[in-house]
Amino acid sequence: MVKVNKEKCIGCGQCIAICPEVFELKNCKSQVKESSGNKKCIQESIKACPVDAISE
Ligand code: SF4
Repeated sequence: MVKVNKEKCIGCGQCIAICPEVFELKNCKSQVKESSGNKKCIQESIKACPVDAISE
């Protein structure tokens, strides 16, 4: 299951831009809203995150 490490997340918005059906911004941090979403965009978000805050 995909997870966001809120300690690492800097709220840059990349993962939300790439994969809005899975990630949303809350209190300037990304959180998972739908972990069973499009797996391809989850993978793209993991690669795009500048601080490696997303894991599966
Ligand atoms: Fe946070 Fe990474 Fe998403 Fe940016 S791409 S909002 S740092 S989880």
